[in-house]
Amino acid sequence: MLSGGKRIAVIEELVLASGNPHKASEIESWFQGRGHSLRVLSANDFGGMDGCRETAKDFAGNARIKIDFLKKRVPHGSWILADDSGLEVDVLAGQPGVYSARFAGEGATDSQNRDLLLERMRKVRAVRKRSARFVCVIALGQWRKRTRYFRGECEGSVLREAAGRSGFGYDPIFVPRGYTQSFAELAQTKKNGISHRGRALEELEKALKP
Ligand code: IMP
Repeated sequence: MLSGGKRIAVIEELVLASGNPHKASEIESWFQGRGHSLRVLSANDFGGMDGCRETAKDFAGNARIKIDFLKKRVPHGSWILADDSGLEVDVLAGQPGVYSARFAGEGATDSQNRDLLLERMRKVRAVRKRSARFVCVIALGQWRKRTRYFRGECEGSVLREAAGRSGFGYDPIFVPRGYTQSFAELAQTKKNGISHRGRALEELEKALKP
C-alpha cells in the first residue's frame, strides 16, 4: 500500500483530515519550508471530523477511514491528506500502536498514557530491550481517485522516566536512535527533521511533480 509508481499532479491546496488546526499549520509550514507554496485547509472548514470512527487495526486503515469520511464533505476535486501515527514498543508486541492516543482508555490524557506505558515496562531494565519506533502513515486522496500511502518511521527507545517539557504525547519518554535527549528535549526543527511524520512527508514530497 506504500507509494510508488506514477507521479502526482501539482497540488496547490489540500484539506487535512484532522480537526487539529495546529497540525494543518505545521504541515503547511513543513511544505513551505521546502519551497512548496501549498495551502493546507483544516477539516473544520468542511464540517470537521466529529463522527469519524478510527476502527482499523493498522495506521494505513485509519488514514483511509479519515480520507473516506472527508471525501463526502469537500468539493469534488479537492485533495485530502490524512495522517495516522503512534508508538510501537517491541517488548509489548507493538503496543500501543494504533491505540496510542487512547492506550489508558477513551479520553485518556497524554500523561496517563505515558504513565501506563512506563508501568507496563517497569521490569524491563536493559535499554536494548526498551526498543520502540514511532510510525506515521500519510494518505493522500481525491474523489474517485486511488488513495496513495506514504510511511515514515523513527527508531529509538523508551526512557524509564519522562525528560523534557516540549512536544506532546510520548515525546518525553522517547529517545530517537543516535541521540541522548528525548523528543521533548530536542528543538522542534530537529524533531521534524528525523521524526516519523517528517519522513512520511518526505516520501510524499518525492511523489509530487517538481
Ligand atoms: P494521531 O495520529 O495524531 O491520532 O496520533 C496518535 C497518538 O500517537 C497521539 O495521540 C500520540 O499519543 C502518539 N503520537 C503520534 N505522533 C507522536 C509524536 O510525534 N510524539 C509523541 N507522540 C506521538
